[in-house]
Amino acid sequence: MDDRIKKVNSNENLNGKYVLYWMQESQRTRYNFGLKRAIRISNLKKQPLYVVFNLMKSYPEAQKRHFDFMLQGLKNVRENLAKKKIKFILLEGDFQKNILKISEKASVMIWDKSYLKFQISIKEKILKNIECDVFEAESNVLIPVEVVSKKEEYSAKTFRDKYNKVKGGYVNWLEEEKYDIDYPLKDEVDSLDRSDAYIPKELEELDGEFLGGEDEALKRLERFIDSDLKFYLEKGPDNERYSKLSPYLHFGNISPLEIWQRLSKKSDLTECSESFLEELLIRRELAINFVYYNKKYDEWDGITYQWAYETLKSHENDKREYIYSKEELETFQTHDKYWNSCQNQMIKTGYMDGYMRMYWCKKILEWSKTPQIAYETAIYLNNKYFYDGRDPSSYTGVAWCFGKHDRAWKEREIFGKVRYMNSNGLERKFEMDTYIKKYGR
Ligand SMILES: Cc1cc2nc3c(=O)[nH]c(=O)nc-3n(C[C@H](O)[C@H](O)[C@H](O)COP(=O)(O)OP(=O)(O)OC[C@H]3O[C@@H](n4cnc5c(N)ncnc54)[C@H](O)[C@@H]3O)c2cc1C
Repeated sequence: MDDRIKKVNSNENLNGKYVLYWMQESQRTRYNFGLKRAIRISNLKKQPLYVVFNLMKSYPEAQKRHFDFMLQGLKNVRENLAKKKIKFILLEGDFQKNILKISEKASVMIWDKSYLKFQISIKEKILKNIECDVFEAESNVLIPVEVVSKKEEYSAKTFRDKYNKVKGGYVNWLEEEKYDIDYPLKDEVDSLDRSDAYIPKELEELDGEFLGGEDEALKRLERFIDSDLKFYLEKGPDNERYSKLSPYLHFGNISPLEIWQRLSKKSDLTECSESFLEELLIRRELAINFVYYNKKYDEWDGITYQWAYETLKSHENDKREYIYSKEELETFQTHDKYWNSCQNQMIKTGYMDGYMRMYWCKKILEWSKTPQIAYETAIYLNNKYFYDGRDPSSYTGVAWCFGKHDRAWKEREIFGKVRYMNSNGLERKFEMDTYIKKYGR
């Protein structure tokens, strides 16, 4: 579909010698609309294509675990591009400086669409000074965010209605483009490449038994479709019938379109597939809608609805049986064995399933001095430890615990009308002993 690619700058560089695809959010070679368009342009212009990635070591909130996962994925990208005879270049340092420098001799640049403020601001600054044509590609969602809706949607229901009306036009993938130009092996662009300094030679399994990269993402997807998907409705912290694809989606190692296609090929859409697709498409893309249209998605006074702020405020002085500081929470020093276990799981593995994430965050709200402190603590821990942290779904998942995209419930202490959760629910639904055996503190 053409509306996945948009021209965002017109400034033909007649001296351009190559085509650039600045791969940042879509770290993969498969189902990548930006790469596909870049190959086509490069074939038409008969100019070599370079795929460039910029590594910034001081990237906001990024931890060693995030870099390790990402660099494993980039190793995989470099290898897969080499099979297509496309050169991959890794730059290191300031985005603006590096991307502008490498674009000086480019005739055309293609980049990935961003949704979060930091990434958008980098691109806005680059756009002011760049001197070539620029196209923006959107391939980390099934449907471009502005096609589904032009505004922040109120709930999953309002979003779903709009989404399903246009979905039919976005489920097909056209053939891959074949690159038919050899890049020159030695030129000035080669000297900028820092890949060898950063990309690991061998891959070692990371915490939580993760390995970064598009090949691993695909393997996980196939394993999930073959073995766990049919149990998806029974998923829980005790059985781990989840896809665990969120880190791969976060780094753009896999595309929702490819997941959709593989799922619909292997089975008719059963109840389990439908439930999975509700999460992957509706919930995930609703999260993108939230951060894209709400510029205060990460500021306490912008994350939820008026009714939720009012009800939380009116219960701010309610007596709290337990109050824990950020440090106590981070080191799992609460009275609640389930909560301590999920905090331990988060730190040890960089992952937690959806149900435990809700419980984890609701308890932070219950045990913090104020809802604002709770919100800030939850975002801090979420983004520090989860491989999939710092994502639109991070801000939306945490905001959901404060009423966003939810409705009012029966009023009670501390939470007011915001939905409450307790450990009885966990015990009723799951074999919590199994979970404690694995992650108990
Ligand atoms: C407090 C809280 C914090 C969260 N933090 C994050 C985060 O930092 N990063 C993140 O990616 N997700 C986050 N989520 C959403 C969700 O919990 C995770 O995406 C999901 O648990 C990831 O595991 P999975 O890949 O095995 O999911 P699966 O159940 O296998 O689902 C498949 C995919 O659907 C998407 N998805 C599933 N549930 C949701 C949801 N509720 N909202 C949006 N997308 C969803 C994810 O991309 C996921 O990979 C958070 C939710 C809550 C309540």
